[in-house]
Amino acid sequence: MMGQTKHEGPTKLPRLPDPKLWVSPVPFGLGKIKPKHIRDTAKVVWENRDNLPYAYRILTQGVCDGCALGVGGLRDQTLTGPHLCTTRLNVLRLNTMPAIDEEILHSDIDQLRQKSSTELRQLGRIPYPLSRKPGEKRFTRISWDDALDRIADKIRSIDPKQLAFYLTSRGITNEVYYTAAKTARFLGTNNIDNASRICHSPSKTALKRSLGIGASSCNYRDWIGTDVLVFWGSVAANNQPVSTKYMYAAKRKGTKIIVINPYREPSMDGYWVPSIPDSALFGTKIANDFYQVNIGGDIALMNGVMKHWFEMEIEEPGSAIDWEFVQQHTHGVEDLKDHVLNQDWETLEASSGLSRARMEELARLLARSKSGVFVWSMGLTQHRFGTDNISQIANLAMLRGFIGRKHCGVMPIRGHSGVQGSGEMGADPFVLPGGDFEPKEIERLEQLWNFDIPRWQGDTVGDSLENALLPEEHQRKLRVFYTSGGNFLETMPDPDFVRQCLEQMELRVHQDIILNTSTLVDAKEEVIVLPAMTRYEQPGGGTSTSTERMVYFSPEIEGPRIEEARSEWEIYTDLAARVKPEAKEQITFADAQEIREEIAKANPNYDGIQHLKKKGDVFQWGGAWLCEGGICPTDDGRGNLIPIELPELRKPEGHFYVSTRRGKQFNSMIYGETDPTNAADRYSVLIHPEDARSIGIRDGEAIVLYNRYGRFQGVAQFADTRRGNLQVYWPEGNVLIPKGVYEEYAAIPEYNTAVVVEKAETYHAQKDTRYVEKRVEELETEMT
Ligand code: SF4
Repeated sequence: MMGQTKHEGPTKLPRLPDPKLWVSPVPFGLGKIKPKHIRDTAKVVWENRDNLPYAYRILTQGVCDGCALGVGGLRDQTLTGPHLCTTRLNVLRLNTMPAIDEEILHSDIDQLRQKSSTELRQLGRIPYPLSRKPGEKRFTRISWDDALDRIADKIRSIDPKQLAFYLTSRGITNEVYYTAAKTARFLGTNNIDNASRICHSPSKTALKRSLGIGASSCNYRDWIGTDVLVFWGSVAANNQPVSTKYMYAAKRKGTKIIVINPYREPSMDGYWVPSIPDSALFGTKIANDFYQVNIGGDIALMNGVMKHWFEMEIEEPGSAIDWEFVQQHTHGVEDLKDHVLNQDWETLEASSGLSRARMEELARLLARSKSGVFVWSMGLTQHRFGTDNISQIANLAMLRGFIGRKHCGVMPIRGHSGVQGSGEMGADPFVLPGGDFEPKEIERLEQLWNFDIPRWQGDTVGDSLENALLPEEHQRKLRVFYTSGGNFLETMPDPDFVRQCLEQMELRVHQDIILNTSTLVDAKEEVIVLPAMTRYEQPGGGTSTSTERMVYFSPEIEGPRIEEARSEWEIYTDLAARVKPEAKEQITFADAQEIREEIAKANPNYDGIQHLKKKGDVFQWGGAWLCEGGICPTDDGRGNLIPIELPELRKPEGHFYVSTRRGKQFNSMIYGETDPTNAADRYSVLIHPEDARSIGIRDGEAIVLYNRYGRFQGVAQFADTRRGNLQVYWPEGNVLIPKGVYEEYAAIPEYNTAVVVEKAETYHAQKDTRYVEKRVEELETEMT
């Protein structure tokens, strides 16, 4: 089940360059659009100039609080040599900046509301607990005792089903997720959720049903030397920048890299890896090939690949499927075979946007490969059929036997440093630490925790937010919402609706290091803001788990501290003890080490975490490969091949699909208005030139995208994207995304939609006539 083989540790890059991989013989990509690493680094040094020694200590001793590629100090487990990127440097300031100036903090709330989240972030850290009640124009300083007593009183006065917790993932440690998960259950609620609900929840759900696992089955080391490395709906070069170094290493070993995405992402085409001299100078060609699939067309493409494999098998048995693996380690091959052979190529072509010949080409490439790794991200998960997308990946991997051995595996690559651990620690309505939310696991945890866990199914964060609008008498009407970080106004579809939900909550608690636009929204009775410590400030340090299941220890780092900020785990347990003082010994921890000791018991995979005590300590749970030797942690040790139906793609005539992309940003935090990979700005709409011309739109022209949910005013930017598919930046594009459309199994919101595109001048000239109304009406009929 769990792998026995240990990770091999870091390997070395070749010393001599390979000019065949260069993007261009012109040094530094002069004249090309590309990230400016040196300039960005200089900017970060300037920003942190008041605290440089501390910044240096964080970088050299702490575990990165950026993405979940994972690194302790400047060394990782994949390659020797330094590991650092501009994403980490950009978020560094969150850790070194001083508190918000008091005068600004207590200024008129309407003035604060005029600031964007970027401007609010730049104000500095939250220094002490704050309160604001309806009608109050300013935040008031309150004491910790006052704050926690008020929250505790309110929690005692409501039904626990009316209480919900949420935790984001930037910087949050396993210790904090674990104590939050335990606190929620101690207070009688299972309404606890985390940021993976809007990124990778389908990955976990699908991998569980297909392979019995909930995490990456392999390591980044497996990329290096695998025959084929497929990035599916993932722009790892932008979101996990150091991954480009691993891609470079893979290319040097002859690995073919395939990118499947509607847009030919420039950063996956070629990249200038700053820490590798020849790449920094001449760039590295990354993708060997791009398959520009329709938004939502991945299931069709994968069915097309499998259909061709089974057709190859008819002609020449053994030419495509790894029968030994399939027969020994899976169920369901016959059903899957019938299902894909019955699909017709015309439908697969229309849905995927790719020709039969291209699908066969990919099928043959994968069939020839003896090893392969599939990496994916939100291009596959953020759909109302996200779980099906990922089960299709598992189908491909199992049919080729790419599971449980060297250079093979399935990897949901994560964007936030804490997110892998959040579910594993139980901060999720469907999971408890170490197992699913099911009777056997509930009883096991009750024994360990020594209190009863509520038996009812908790809500996901999307449902919890909407529950704020339920009628007064409803048992699940959300009255108290406790969020650690997070900015729902800028991450969930339909921001106006989210604002209404936030305003309808009686008490909202924002435990955070900075203010954002959600913190400033009114609540019916009170908003309480609690100042949290960063992971580097927490006494006793903390751990975080990377995409490849490495659990890294990040020590407490000496440096300046914010007035009254407290460890997040300590805030949760202090609050819990105030709500139920009679049972407080069940929830109190003496220190962070005691939490780690309990985690090791609560989640058996994490046995080993209790030994992590100093800088550089790390272990990988589950060994190098989950499902090692093909044996899956399912009831009978076999994986499940699951036939997947094509989704119904709702694009009426004359509409375009639109999906969202990331620019110079770290999740919802924006660090630059211009996307360094293609020079687009935050309101650019990437559109294929032929599509634009067909509706009379010129490059750089102001356009409006609209549908029944909203209107987005932007500027056309011609780009190499699949025809009929547009890309807008996230979160700005969220105004177009329907609310309340959730994936069936993992409840991730749908982040794609269909829109009409019109020149801004025509749209605005007509807007006072019945024309626009009529168009919208027509659209409603078509879209329902
Ligand atoms: S790639 Fe990710 S883990 Fe590595 S330094 Fe950058 S943000 Fe941190």
